[in-house]
Amino acid sequence: MALLRATPRITRKFIVYLMMVSVLPLLAVSYASYQSARDTVMAQARQTVAALVDGQVRLLDRTLDQVEGLIANLSGIEDIGRGFARDAPQDDYGRLATQARIGYILNGYLNLDGLVSIDLFAADGQHFHVGDTLDGSRLDQAARDRLYAQAQASGRTVHWAGVSANVNEASRHPQVLAAARVLMHTDRATLNTKPIGLIVVNLDPGSLGRQFGTARLRTGAFLTLIDQQGRLLYDPDPQRVGQDADPGFLTAAARAVNRSGAVRLQWRASPYLLNCEPVARADWTLCHAIPERTLFAEIRVIRQTAFVALVLSFLVVAGATWVYSQDLVRPILEVITSFKRLQSNSLDPSTRLPVRTRDEIGELVSGFNAFMDTLSARAAADRALRASEERYALAVRATNDILWDWDLQTQALYLSPRFQDLLGLGGTRLERTPDDWLERIHPDDNEAVHLEIGRHLDGTTDFFCHEYRLRHHNGGYLWFLSRGLAERDGDGLPIRMAGSHTDISDRKRAEEQLRHDALYDHLTGLHNRTWLQARLERLLRGGGRTQRLSLAVLFIDLDRFKAVNDTLGHEAGDALLIAVAARLRAELRAEDGLVRLGGDEFVVLVTEGRRAADLAARLISALGRPFMLGDQEVQTGASIGIAHTGPDYRSADEVLRDADIAMYQAKDQGKGRFQVFDHGMRERIVNRLEMEKALGHALSTDQLTLVYQPIVSMEGYRLEGFEALARWVHPRLGPVPPDQFVTMAEESNLIIPLGRWAFSKVCRRLRAWQSLIAPGAPLRIAVNFSPRQLFDEDLIDAIPRILDDHGVSGERLVIEVTETAILDETQAAARVLERLRALGIRVHLDDFGTGYSSLSHLAGLPIDAIKIDRSFVSEIETSERKRVMLHGIILLAHQLGIATIAEGVETAGQAGILLAEGCDYCQGYLVSYPLTAADAAGLLSARGEAGGTLTGLGMVPAVGG
Ligand code: C2E
Ligand code: CA
Ligand code: CA
Repeated sequence: MALLRATPRITRKFIVYLMMVSVLPLLAVSYASYQSARDTVMAQARQTVAALVDGQVRLLDRTLDQVEGLIANLSGIEDIGRGFARDAPQDDYGRLATQARIGYILNGYLNLDGLVSIDLFAADGQHFHVGDTLDGSRLDQAARDRLYAQAQASGRTVHWAGVSANVNEASRHPQVLAAARVLMHTDRATLNTKPIGLIVVNLDPGSLGRQFGTARLRTGAFLTLIDQQGRLLYDPDPQRVGQDADPGFLTAAARAVNRSGAVRLQWRASPYLLNCEPVARADWTLCHAIPERTLFAEIRVIRQTAFVALVLSFLVVAGATWVYSQDLVRPILEVITSFKRLQSNSLDPSTRLPVRTRDEIGELVSGFNAFMDTLSARAAADRALRASEERYALAVRATNDILWDWDLQTQALYLSPRFQDLLGLGGTRLERTPDDWLERIHPDDNEAVHLEIGRHLDGTTDFFCHEYRLRHHNGGYLWFLSRGLAERDGDGLPIRMAGSHTDISDRKRAEEQLRHDALYDHLTGLHNRTWLQARLERLLRGGGRTQRLSLAVLFIDLDRFKAVNDTLGHEAGDALLIAVAARLRAELRAEDGLVRLGGDEFVVLVTEGRRAADLAARLISALGRPFMLGDQEVQTGASIGIAHTGPDYRSADEVLRDADIAMYQAKDQGKGRFQVFDHGMRERIVNRLEMEKALGHALSTDQLTLVYQPIVSMEGYRLEGFEALARWVHPRLGPVPPDQFVTMAEESNLIIPLGRWAFSKVCRRLRAWQSLIAPGAPLRIAVNFSPRQLFDEDLIDAIPRILDDHGVSGERLVIEVTETAILDETQAAARVLERLRALGIRVHLDDFGTGYSSLSHLAGLPIDAIKIDRSFVSEIETSERKRVMLHGIILLAHQLGIATIAEGVETAGQAGILLAEGCDYCQGYLVSYPLTAADAAGLLSARGEAGGTLTGLGMVPAVGG
């Protein structure tokens, strides 16, 4: 039912219709044929059963006939009659003879099937017996008398007594089917008839069973024979023979006999069909019962077939409906659903339905699809239109531009709302006249705007595009860029013009600013490098020879500006630069050019060259006076280089470069000076550049070597280690002093490769010397690290690997760093030093006693020893003050757990003092010059034998250094 409800209405109708035309008639036909089949079967069954019963009754009759024939024969026998009907009593002999004769006769009849016994009772009490027992003496008299009475009363020749007790108590059959006849004798004389005896024939009831048992009965059917007393003569269950029949059965049997047809009987909970027929001569009834189920077995087949046919036809109907709904209803439903969804706006506009058939339904679906096509096309058009409208509206709102549309025929001018906004006009009026726009044009631009519009309208230009100013409501002017395009009629005459006005005030201002910035320094407002270059170029090129000769460029660099910037901050630095600019300006004439090049560099361009030196001196003294920055007094100064232009200068850059060189020269000679450029300066610089190049080359070509200066203990001069010192022998210039090339390397980037080279070289050396150094013996090689190296992270990171690669322990190495390296960036330096120390490397503080050397610093530093500088050591013999200081330094160092090493010890006197003050180690020409690697190795191998002291060796070898 649920399925039916779920199916579409049209399908439901179709099902009902199909049911009506196919299933219902079929149902009716099946029912009718079932009924008639059933009737036929029943009628046939009744006939068969009746015939069967009839046959059985006839069979039974024949048996009874045989018995009755037997009895008739016996009664007709003369001898028996004579033997019975005697009036006089017989003598014993006579009796025995009679008995023998009758017994003989009876024996002749014993062949009857089912016969149990034959008994003859004479009136005088004689009893003749043959049968299943020979003993005829045990006699049930009451039974005999009952039989006699019944036979007498029945009026029949032979009385069939039904099931009764056997008169012979000795018989094996206590119950028998008895037939009795009274023997009569007619006196021939008197013709009187009188009973003279009784013949009893006993049959075994089982013999009936044998007869009925052979009847061909159908499943469940049975026969029953009931006697006149309602007792069972025969029953399929032999036990029940002789018992009373079921009363219900009896009444049904009576009805069946009355009707002489079949009746229905409810027997043992199932319906039976009962046929009964009387066995007339004995008042018995033979019944045949058959279960209806057996009868209807055939009908059931018909019924089942009909049912299967029904089910099949129903399935066919269902299948047909399914196909039908697929084919016919589904497309319709799809169309309907799609329309509904279209109505509720939930249909995807791209939906098209599949056309499955080429019939009217297919046409309907195609029609729907075509409808959707039309709809989509229209929707797309609508959308496009709406999008374009929205886009336009959005553009009008979003754009910063004013949009305008000028109808040249009606002279109506549309101006988008931005017009009011930008020009500070109130209101929302959109319809305007061209005057609203044109009369706001700046008087200076008015003519050009009209000209440009005209040029476009008459077709000279492809479009109108012009920059001009419009008056703001507040009276000021804004810059606008207007564009426009005319629309023309068939004759090419303009009828309309539309476009935009873009506010370009910001751009104009920025352009102005850029123009200014390009030539001016934004901090000081002075001219900048660009301006200077342009100006110089112009003067160099344009001016006559005389004028060119008289030009001078003063290159000014502030002293200590970096310190101000670093200590007081950038703002102070900026303020100082502004103040400097002001002071410079004050010293100059109006025609002198003043330029800030960048940083703390300024340039003065003097057209009268001979004033240059004077001016430079004045500027230096002006800048030498302290500046007040807020409440902070700042002292700076300036170094100035002067370059006079000559005929050999081609470009401004050359002049500036030389002035710069002269300025550096001035700085080199001590700050607060000026220098005039000469050609020697350039040569010196060129030389230096060449040297730098050569050093780079030297690094890659093995011109550099290391020498090793021993470091010994103060007491006993035991060898403690070496300091590795770099040497460079230039192929052309000979040995270059380390102070010189190391400084050079530091100023260029070469110090990085140089440092790595030295470190690796020392590691290699240690490796080579491994066999010379007894495992427990002290020996370290110190490597000098310049500040830049300390912060060369790649090197620091690489150190563990370098050590590894050479199989060298950090325990054999010392890094010497100068105080300045640490002081600048204490924290970062300390971190690096800790990393080195973690590798077992020791850290020595080099050149102690030269710089700011503050003892208080020592405490916080991760160092193992200080190296007291040579300049300090050289004075301890002569200066009491230095000696006291030495005392203090060593004392403090020891208190901090820091060792002391004296450098550059040249005299025994110095050594004596150092020993007395408790200095730990020393290094210097007194002990040894720096040694070649080979000599150092020799020293190492000799030390074992000499007990480790150098004095013991008596050697003070000298190597250039
Ligand atoms: P330094 O680190 O102070 O090295 C000690 C300098 O004193 C060496 O000069 C050495 O030859 C010299 N010297 C040693 N004993 C005496 C003495 O008794 N009397 C005199 N007058 N001088 C003595 P050198 O070899 O000319 O080195 C100069 C500087 O160059 C070194 O000063 C060091 O700072 C730097 N230097 C040398 N080699 C290297 C290097 O491989 N790397 C780095 N970064 N710097 C190096
Ligand atoms: Ca050193
Ligand atoms: Ca030193």
